Amino acid sequence: MKETVLVTGGAGYIGSHACKALARAGFLPVSVDNLTHGHEWAVKWGPLVKGDIHDSGLLGQVFETFKPVAVLHFAAFAYVGESVVDPGKYYWNNVAGTVSLLEAMRRYRCSRIVFSSTCATYGIPEAVPIPEGHVQRPINPYGRSKLMIEDILRDFHDAYGLRYASLRYFNAAGADPDGEIGEDHEPETHLIPLVIRAALGYLPFVEIFGTDYPTPDGTAVRDYIHVTDLAEVHVLALQHLLEGRENVCLNLGTGRGHSVLEVIRAVEEAAVQPVPFRKTQRRAGDPPVLVAGSVQATERLGWQPRFTDLRSIVKTALLWHSGRILLNKEKVQG
Ligand code: UDP
Repeated sequence: MKETVLVTGGAGYIGSHACKALARAGFLPVSVDNLTHGHEWAVKWGPLVKGDIHDSGLLGQVFETFKPVAVLHFAAFAYVGESVVDPGKYYWNNVAGTVSLLEAMRRYRCSRIVFSSTCATYGIPEAVPIPEGHVQRPINPYGRSKLMIEDILRDFHDAYGLRYASLRYFNAAGADPDGEIGEDHEPETHLIPLVIRAALGYLPFVEIFGTDYPTPDGTAVRDYIHVTDLAEVHVLALQHLLEGRENVCLNLGTGRGHSVLEVIRAVEEAAVQPVPFRKTQRRAGDPPVLVAGSVQATERLGWQPRFTDLRSIVKTALLWHSGRILLNKEKVQG
């Protein structure tokens, strides 16, 4: 019989790709998602339990019914700007929700968790590429909520023996190469989907937030990691914990940075369309450069990313977004 893994936020962008990777590796992913931002259509590789991680009764039923061997924890709000204007929402959902989940795990003796953390826990880096041992000084409530959870996992390890992997993502991008799932945020604030919309004529232009950064072309640099590669590390981290090995905190990126203008050029090349853009002010809270120093994921988990260049990441995203746009257009017309 397949081992079951509970996936909170399994209907979301990264969670759904992780479900596919889990199924490929022989696990049964059981998703718990309140569908605030997730999509029912994205849950394809196992059952979906609609509900909230604050609901301890519901979590109890899930643990009793499915007896998961571990948890992959994605459920969280992740809009930096919103976290600044409404921090309560972030601490309640991300931090208190996680405590509710951890308490349920404790009640049902489920002691392994892979946690979706973020490079936003580092704040403005003092060194780039950012090593895992870099000081964590987040500059917004979103980053702080994730860092608090990393600390809580440590405390639960010390006190109750919880085993954890905290995976600090850089910029997740791209879509399932088979086209089964992909990114669909509402509202969409991420660079690559917005550039694609502008390339396909569904946005009049994309804004470039800041052209006066201390970077080669003046625009901000990020480390874009393909969502399928990201999903696969979750399975490796899970297997690592199931083998009884040590807790890990790992950066997940490619170790290569790309500027906003480079992303625009890559989309232009893939779409064979010019991308109209406007230069505007920096977005508050955006560090100039975020690039992962990520050797540990390779050294400790044997991870080898498959999509190592920006062009292949952008291509999978373009394929997905073109399909979604066509589908939605048909819906509107039909
Ligand atoms: N960005 C931009 N225009 C946009 C959206 C994003 O210039 O419409 C820039 C943003 O300032 C950052 C990079 O693109 O430097 C990636 O932003 P995104 O929101 O995709 O991810 P983040 O790095 O904020 O997690």
